[in-house]
Formats: sequence, C-alpha cells, structure tokens
Amino acid sequence: MWRATSLVEPPRAVAAVGALLYPPRCYLCAGPVHLMEPLCRACKAELFSAPTETCGVCGCAAGGGQSLCSDCAVTPRPYLWARSLGSYDGTLAVVVQALKYHGERALARPLGKLLAAMVDPASEEIHLVTCVPPDPRRLKQRSYHPARDLARATARALGFPYRDLLRKPRATPPQVGRSRRQRIGALHEAFRARRLGKDEGVIVVDDVFTTGATVAEAARALRAAGYGDVFVLTVAHTSD
Ligand SMILES: [Zn+2]
Ligand SMILES: [Zn+2]
Repeated sequence: MWRATSLVEPPRAVAAVGALLYPPRCYLCAGPVHLMEPLCRACKAELFSAPTETCGVCGCAAGGGQSLCSDCAVTPRPYLWARSLGSYDGTLAVVVQALKYHGERALARPLGKLLAAMVDPASEEIHLVTCVPPDPRRLKQRSYHPARDLARATARALGFPYRDLLRKPRATPPQVGRSRRQRIGALHEAFRARRLGKDEGVIVVDDVFTTGATVAEAARALRAAGYGDVFVLTVAHTSD
C-alpha cells in the first residue's frame, strides 16, 4: 500500500516551506544570515568588541591603565576572573532582553560561542561548566532558564561537560530597584552545591554581571563544596 513518505517528517517540511516564504533574517539588523543563525556576521562582530581597559579580575572598566579596579585591589574575589562581552547597553542590552524576556532562546547558541571565545582552555584548569541557578518561582513562570541555555551552549563550544552544580534553596526577591547592600544581603547563602566537588575548575555562566554579588555567591558555594578555581562568564556587565 502506498504511503506518503513526507508524512513521516511534517515539521521539517513545514520549516522548509517557512524558510522559503520567510527567508532568515538577523534578529538585530534584519540583514541576511546563514540558515538557522539568529545573528548576522556584522552584529556578532559588534557584540564582541569588548572594552580594552578592563579589570583583570571582575572585568569592569578599570581605567587609568590599571590592571585591577579599585574594588578588586582591596577585596579578594571568590572567583579567579569574570569576563563579559561588554557593557549592558546598545546591542548587548537588546540581545540580553530578547533572551531573558522575549523567549528568543535561539540567541543562546551564538552568544555561548562568543562567551567560549573569551576562554583559553589550555591555560586554565577547567573541567565543568554550570550556570547561576534559577529562582524556582521564576522558573515556574518562564519554564526555561536563559543562563542555563547560555551555559549549555558555552560548554558545547568549549568541549566541557555542562552540569547543574548549584541550586537555590529559597526564592529571593527580584534584585531590580534594590540598593547594592540590600541585594548582597538578600543573596547571602542563596546557593548550595548539589554534590561535593573534587577540585574541578568550574566556569559559571550568567546573563548579566551587576554588582558581581550573585556570581560571587555561586563561586563561594562551589568553593565551599570542594570545587577548584571558579571562572565567570556573563554576556554583559552593568556599571552599578
Ligand atoms: Zn545583524
Ligand atoms: Zn575589579
């Protein structure tokens, strides 16, 4: 009996027709892109134009030709370094908001590749990639966790395994609109490691580096559980 073979793969057929009707466009500039790529080459290049003078530890704008910012010069950090693609404005802000609030999950892959490009795996003791864990309440509302998508894409690009190493035992109130001191206070012991480490170096991925309090808490929880050096990658950093 004759069977239409196309019935076996209807989603692929629909996608192919859709691509003919609506050729893929860059999410940011609507220019032409390679199939399945959300961003064009020019927009990716713009995303990766990081500021030249940054603090070697926290990645903020150090200025004045200093290798460390004034904060990192006096306060030790629980992570070895934190790097981001650039400041939270312009293109980067659009991309982060699209990923976080508008469900543009396809952006995680190219951003993960860009984050991975800031790491030299040969010169660091890195074994695992994880993310800052989601707030359980917010995960319910949104059903996916942008930082996890980013971390998975980064891990794939670097060739390291991704693991959910941290969890958030209690919901913390939204950070927006609170003072630096309130945010840091609310985050105290906000994360717990899911299992003990054996001195593995870990990259922690998050979307935005604000005060650094969130990633510092994540790094502290990992160190306390026996993991080795912690490295932080975020898409953008804000100047508080
Ligand atoms: Zn573009
Ligand atoms: Zn610094």
